[in-house]
Amino acid sequence: MFYKSTRNSNLKVDSAQAISQGISEDGGLFVPESIPSLTLDEVKYMSELSYSCRAAYVFKKFLTDFTDAEIQYCTDNAYNTKNFETENIAEIAHLFDGTYMLELWHGPTCAFKDMALQILPYFLTTSAKKLNIDKKIVILVATSGDTGKAALEGFRDVEGTQIMVFYPENGVSSMQKRQMTTQEGENVSVCAIKGNFDDCQSGVKKIFTDDEVKKVLEDNKLMFSSANSINWGRLVPQVVYYISAYASLVSDGQISLGDKLNVVVPTGNFGNILAAYYAKKMGLPLGKLICASNINNVLTDFINTGVYDRNRKFYATSSPSMDILISSNLERLLYMLTGDNDAKIREWFGALASEGRYEVTDDIKAKISEEFYAGFCDDEDTKKTISSIYEKYSYVCDTHTAVAVKVYEDYRKATGDTTRTLIASTASPYKFSSSVLEAICPCFSADDEYALVDKINELSGITIPESLAGLKNKPVRFSGSIDKESMSDYVMEQLDVK
Ligand SMILES: *Cc1c(COP(=O)(O)O)cnc(C)c1O
Repeated sequence: MFYKSTRNSNLKVDSAQAISQGISEDGGLFVPESIPSLTLDEVKYMSELSYSCRAAYVFKKFLTDFTDAEIQYCTDNAYNTKNFETENIAEIAHLFDGTYMLELWHGPTCAFKDMALQILPYFLTTSAKKLNIDKKIVILVATSGDTGKAALEGFRDVEGTQIMVFYPENGVSSMQKRQMTTQEGENVSVCAIKGNFDDCQSGVKKIFTDDEVKKVLEDNKLMFSSANSINWGRLVPQVVYYISAYASLVSDGQISLGDKLNVVVPTGNFGNILAAYYAKKMGLPLGKLICASNINNVLTDFINTGVYDRNRKFYATSSPSMDILISSNLERLLYMLTGDNDAKIREWFGALASEGRYEVTDDIKAKISEEFYAGFCDDEDTKKTISSIYEKYSYVCDTHTAVAVKVYEDYRKATGDTTRTLIASTASPYKFSSSVLEAICPCFSADDEYALVDKINELSGITIPESLAGLKNKPVRFSGSIDKESMSDYVMEQLDVK
């Protein structure tokens, strides 16, 4: 299996190369040249396996240049009870009739990003070894809150790597900030940017492609890679949990093998929902893929009209991990839907870079509507949804997941579709304590983050994750913030090379 660049179909690399590079030199994203198939018999077979073995089974189809032993080394080290609170790795909660919450937040940083970022460092170091790369790998991360911490935990003290994380100074929850600024490890640094997530993301992209920086890296035996979902090594682990969830629902007798299952995903960078699309294209019987946005609803508009237009106001919302106006992974979807038309992708994404806008053709628009439904939910409705789910089902969900639930309710009302449905629950409610409590216990107020955490614990009965409880007494190591123009200098300083 080879991987092509979305901006140059003639460029082909194996998965080790795609993962270690992160992004193609032409600015394109790596995509598999074909989608491997998955039969219902295989799904049935997988239902008997542990999560780690299910993951290995899927990886063997995509990472064909890895040996079985290499894949097992990666999955064994990532998906175990040292890293995850639960043996199942991901849990499924039955919310109401035919609706299931896929809880993807039982990992070390309490958000779904752990599902991929616990394994990415093993993929990356294994890839580097396979390619005889003897350079230190420098990971630059732009984060809207959750990726940063998950990447820091994944890469901390991993030999041969160094990691730097940039987050928007006022764009993350206080728990997210505390998680990052207290990060331990000798090879980590964290820096706040005076700007929003898109500023962080474009800053990082600029450093990646800066010729002067490239020369400095070359001279110092360093190389950049990415832990953002532009890296194929981030996406392929996300395909696993959709297949795994389907297999679990079959073995639990909730669905029969072959039944359709809709999927709802609270979406920002379009990585998570794209993984569901890959699973569907492999042959998993998924129905509609429902893309839920917050008020930064650029994707809702795109899916409904075919026009992608980022020229709009940026809002800081109560679901900050989705406060994004440039959804990178859409490029992969469009590449597939155009039949690998790299010229079209260059045209559209060139226009996005220069004018902030592009419009796809009618046939592509039709193909998108066949597979996807899109809706959005503002902060007020997010709050109401958290509160009503709590009242009706005694289930406490975080703000991002609530956006998904609300859009799903709207979808059911609009279409009457009662197909059984899996909702991706992407973060622990403890990460967004103050917004969650505002919804379920509006009279409660406290200055101390941990008083909020204790209150949620009292109301929900969900055990407080040790990783969050433990932050209380950890010293802040990274308190600085810089202008977005200074990111490149900051990187040079941290690398200690200039
Ligand atoms: C990152 C994130 C999202 C958005 O996922 P994408 O793959 O970027 O679409 C949603 N919810 C939470 C909690 C996240 O951390």
